[in-house]
Amino acid sequence: MRQKKPSFFQGISFQLAKIGIILAILLSFFISAIQVYIDYLAQSKELDQLIYRVAEVATPPAARAVHTLDADLANEVVNGLLTYDFIYQVAIWDERGNVLAQADKALTESDVTWMGGLFTHDDASYSSDLIVAGYEQMVAGKISFTVDRDRALENFYRRSEINFFVSSFRSLILVVLLFVAFYFKLTKPLVQLSHEINEIDPDRPGAKRLTTLKSHKADELGTVINSSNQILDVIELSLAKRRVIEQALRTSEEHLRQIVDSLPVFIGARNADGYYLFANKALAEMLGHTPEDMRNVHISDLLKSSVLDVDTVIRGDARVINNGEEIDVAEESFISASGEQLYLQTHMMPLQYYEEVVCLVVSMDVTERKLAQAKMEHMAHHDALTGLPNRLQLVERLEHEARRAVRHGYFGAVLFIDLDKFKNINDSLGHPVGDSVLQEVSSRLQSAVREEDLVARLSGDEFVVVLTVLDHNQEVAALKAGEVGEKIRALISQAFIHEDMELRITCSVGVVVYPEKNNVVHELLRYADTAMYQVKEKGRDAIEFFNEDMADKVSRQLVMEGELHRALEEEQFVLYFQPKVDVQSGAIVGAEALLRWFHPEQGIISPFEFIPVLETSGLIIEVGQWVLEQACDVVQKWSKAGLWHKGMQLSLNISPRQFRRDSFASDVIKTIEQYNLPDQTLDMEITEGIVIQQIEEAIETITLLTQNGISFSLDDFGTGYSSISYLKRLPVTTLKIDKSFIRDIIDDRNDRVLVETIVTMGRLLGLGLVAEGVENSAQLDIIKSYGCHYYQGFYFSPPVPADQFIALLEKRPSK
Ligand code: C2E
Ligand code: CA
Ligand code: CA
Repeated sequence: MRQKKPSFFQGISFQLAKIGIILAILLSFFISAIQVYIDYLAQSKELDQLIYRVAEVATPPAARAVHTLDADLANEVVNGLLTYDFIYQVAIWDERGNVLAQADKALTESDVTWMGGLFTHDDASYSSDLIVAGYEQMVAGKISFTVDRDRALENFYRRSEINFFVSSFRSLILVVLLFVAFYFKLTKPLVQLSHEINEIDPDRPGAKRLTTLKSHKADELGTVINSSNQILDVIELSLAKRRVIEQALRTSEEHLRQIVDSLPVFIGARNADGYYLFANKALAEMLGHTPEDMRNVHISDLLKSSVLDVDTVIRGDARVINNGEEIDVAEESFISASGEQLYLQTHMMPLQYYEEVVCLVVSMDVTERKLAQAKMEHMAHHDALTGLPNRLQLVERLEHEARRAVRHGYFGAVLFIDLDKFKNINDSLGHPVGDSVLQEVSSRLQSAVREEDLVARLSGDEFVVVLTVLDHNQEVAALKAGEVGEKIRALISQAFIHEDMELRITCSVGVVVYPEKNNVVHELLRYADTAMYQVKEKGRDAIEFFNEDMADKVSRQLVMEGELHRALEEEQFVLYFQPKVDVQSGAIVGAEALLRWFHPEQGIISPFEFIPVLETSGLIIEVGQWVLEQACDVVQKWSKAGLWHKGMQLSLNISPRQFRRDSFASDVIKTIEQYNLPDQTLDMEITEGIVIQQIEEAIETITLLTQNGISFSLDDFGTGYSSISYLKRLPVTTLKIDKSFIRDIIDDRNDRVLVETIVTMGRLLGLGLVAEGVENSAQLDIIKSYGCHYYQGFYFSPPVPADQFIALLEKRPSK
């Protein structure tokens, strides 16, 4: 703030002049008064002496005149005395008191006024006795005269008055001159200085300097100005430094701000009262604000569309701010300002923000992931076409049901229903008609059973009905199941009307009553399935219960088991290789090793037939070990021959029983140590079923092997659980999309959606994607458009023996 300029009368020179004048007047008055007084005393004394001398001179003639009674002489003396202008009455008396001579003169008024007034005297009369010489003892007469003292001192008064005025005037002049000198020497430069100081811009104090005054270079003013200028220099310098630092700070803050704003993450900071102190662009925009006006927005203004209430949020913030806790919210639902449903994954942590500790909130938009997950989860449990529970849910529910039946001692039944010649409808009338028939079948099945029963679609035209709590007696339960089965058969065989067309279809039903001795769900389904096949073999459109004969089929497996033992000893197994190809470049990036059994009598037997037998018998352990050694051996050979390049991968199928063995990982590590394979050469294909039951152990096994240079793929993806929550946790690198989806991808919209979802989700999770069973270019084009990375299939090559695979490698080098 500028200082007000002092008025002239407040200036130092005027103040000094005022004091000076008063002091000068007082002093000169006082000194003059003393001087006048001293002079006056001297003058008075002198006058007294004069009067005394006058009297001394006049007395002898007067005495003589009295003695001789000489009146003339007396008059002469009287007149002589009157010549003194301050004597105005004289009289001489004889010894008897008679006046001998007397005279007086008129008094003129003296013009000494005020000074005379100060000392005014009454007229003084002097008298003395007259003594004649020789007659000293006798008084001859008396002489008296009156003196006007004022008149006598008149000259003295006049002089004193003049002196007094002159000295007062001199003092006055001195004061005025001093005043002028002060004004020019002090007040004026001070006024200028104060004016200049006032002019200093507080924001830019160094812009101007105080003017040095030539005439004051050496004095105190000069020093003040110099020192002030030095201070201004120092301030200017430090301000300049500060400006540079501030600029640097602003720049770095700006950069930081840009980084924070460009992140696709919501970042904000709230204080303990729930006010936002900061929000990045993404957050502000999501909330319908700008980052600037987000400041001081209260959380209650934003939570209208959240599942959270203000108190919960503020409590959470307080935990972070007061206790220094970090809080993770895995998933919160939020509606953005534009009305969009978002799912956020939020991390909250304390942050020192200027003077206070605030809650830093960082949220990631996981909506896409969440939606894919929800979709996948629904798909995982439901059949897209009919909305019925799928195999996964069926297995879960049936496991539960079977346990309950054992616990409560009652019986239920599983009905395996397969439509007869459904393929004909699809082939002749097209998939849309087939789909609507399946939907109709599904609703007829649901109408045939009770609320507590379960209808599921396994695949294509296969349905399963679980009838829970039929009876405590096994035979009665079987009877009831038969009745329901008949009802279903009758319902299904009723005509379907499709666009004025009457369609007829029948079904084959296999029934098994549960619980059976130590049966597990998969076996129950297999029994029902076997019974259903029995119906098919007998001519369809009927119901069959699982029976002893069917158990024979199981015993046939035992025969195969024996043969498989021999097959291993006699080396009837061979590995085939199917190339894995890059969708974009068409280059071979690896291969899948597939087992073949050359049966001495029956020729090549499909792994679909013998792998389950190897599994149940436990032989898979030895065969699996053989496959691993073969694979290592062959890759080592190819590598040496320069056919197998770094980066190519050979995939091996690992069956559940193999994988779950405690020593699996250590056996594998021991084996591969014996070979000289580049890192990341081997890949193991496992199915979700393997992991899902013992996920922690599975993660441990996979992690251990991953550390030893082996990667993992999820085989037949999409047919099983396909739950994103497992996927996130499993350290696998690749998903192999099951060939059943690729097969119908051209005609079946559901399959297209599913494949696209899997690819999207896989890419989101950073996984490699392989499409299996690609048989033609149309299928390849579709998966290519979805962004799938690799494929396998007859389109490029079926699984082939090693020599043929080498030929492929040589023809189509990997890079
Ligand atoms: P998978 O792992 O799904 O193997 C892919 C199957 O798809 C192979 O059947 C392959 O011949 C077949 N395939 C490849 N391209 C096409 C195509 O374009 N169209 C069609 N329709 N099919 C195609 P494969 O060789 O009969 O093997 C059947 C299953 O047996 C394998 O299914 C795998 O689960 C299992 N398996 C094969 N070898 C082994 C093995 O060494 N160990 C274990 N544990 N299981 C194996
Ligand atoms: Ca496989
Ligand atoms: Ca597969």
